Amino acid sequence: MKLYNTMTMQKEEFVPIEPGKVRMYACGPTVYNFIHVGNARPLIMFDALRRYLEYRGYDVTFVQNFTDVDDKIINRANEEGIPSDEVAKKYIDEYFTDARALGVREATVHPKATENIQPIIDLITTLIDKGYAYEVEGDVYYRTLKFKDYGKLSHQPIEDLQSGARIDVNDIKENPLDFALWKAAKPGEPYWDSPWGHGRPGWHIECSAMSNRYLGKTIDIHCGGSDLAFPHHENEIAQSEAANGCKFVNYWLHNGFINIDNKKMSKSLGNFFTVREAADAYGYDCIRMFMLMSHYRSPLNYSGEILMQARAALERLRTAKSNLDFFAANGRDGALSDDEAAFAEGLGRYREKFIAVMDDDFNTADAISVIFEMVREINTAVSPAADPTRALAEACRSIFLELCGVLGIPFGDDAPDGESAEIEAKIAARQAARKAKNWAEADRIRDELKAQGILLEDTPQGVKWKKI
Ligand SMILES: [Zn+2]
Repeated sequence: MKLYNTMTMQKEEFVPIEPGKVRMYACGPTVYNFIHVGNARPLIMFDALRRYLEYRGYDVTFVQNFTDVDDKIINRANEEGIPSDEVAKKYIDEYFTDARALGVREATVHPKATENIQPIIDLITTLIDKGYAYEVEGDVYYRTLKFKDYGKLSHQPIEDLQSGARIDVNDIKENPLDFALWKAAKPGEPYWDSPWGHGRPGWHIECSAMSNRYLGKTIDIHCGGSDLAFPHHENEIAQSEAANGCKFVNYWLHNGFINIDNKKMSKSLGNFFTVREAADAYGYDCIRMFMLMSHYRSPLNYSGEILMQARAALERLRTAKSNLDFFAANGRDGALSDDEAAFAEGLGRYREKFIAVMDDDFNTADAISVIFEMVREINTAVSPAADPTRALAEACRSIFLELCGVLGIPFGDDAPDGESAEIEAKIAARQAARKAKNWAEADRIRDELKAQGILLEDTPQGVKWKKI
């Protein structure tokens, strides 16, 4: 399997530190608000990467943190007149509501900054002891220029960074590039005791501390949005490598930006959407499909038109699944015919193609195209005209669900509205009306379903339905 490594700017063969195991870290949200559409992309894509690694037989330990102490959280707490830990708790709960609905599985561990204060203090102490950090007026800063490789991930020479750094005359730092590891508490802020007085951690240090605590000094994969590469990930490298004296991460993966109607998403342009708002408009399942249909490194344009294309693609897959479900229940009795056996075996080449494109830097867009190619063939072989056996429908359904499952394509089986059951009940009522030769009632039910976008098809094997 090859993955594009931001550090080396090329695709590299993936070789885990320990055979069969993957240690993977993703920077999670700062919990002061609902997650936005830009946050959803790394969540969905790296969830799919994790699923794929598991599919390929790796035992994956996936750590994703919550930044639950931060200026933004404190500001929100002051605005709402509630303690900052209540703000964090509220938005962690809201995070899980969105993530679950997006089909994003829980990480192996979701550590919180506030539950890792001691490991953070220990790490800062090591950096001070090694001369990489210094205390001033209760703050602790990282001495950036001392870390010789600073800028290696974002490929920026230190001279460029120095000339671009904002110089504040009131700065108490030795150098404008130095960044805070620990911040002295201001009145009214949450704080913890430390060797430098009351204070709280800076943002970057928590990821180095938690990655070390849960995954070890060197990890396989660190991922996140490309906006995190500088300065956040650069600072994580500086902290971890200076403290531990070894390489921090073997493969750095960054997903591309999301534009909204071809414009950068920003609060000032008024095109900033939370996932909750997007889901109200298009549905969570459609958002997941939309993200999977692009390669994770490509820029992605969020527009109503493209989301509707994702909706149509998802409906085609759902129709394929309901067709397979139908024939798995209503197909012909008996074992596979010779032709069917050859067909079922031939589907294995789609699995090989799927793995080949996924192994090439995790190309979910091409993987979905492979699924569609397969579906076209299946739709012909498992159709009223082909009169397939139940065994063939089951064989096709098995590989179809296997490949869709790797990407976490949502089929809405657990939809809370019980829509399918309601449709099935109406179909049964229509069948009963037909049996009683009550054609008017049968037609009425058919038209009622049609008005809901449900098309019925009478086949020799029974009544099938699909969404139009
Ligand atoms: Zn981080």
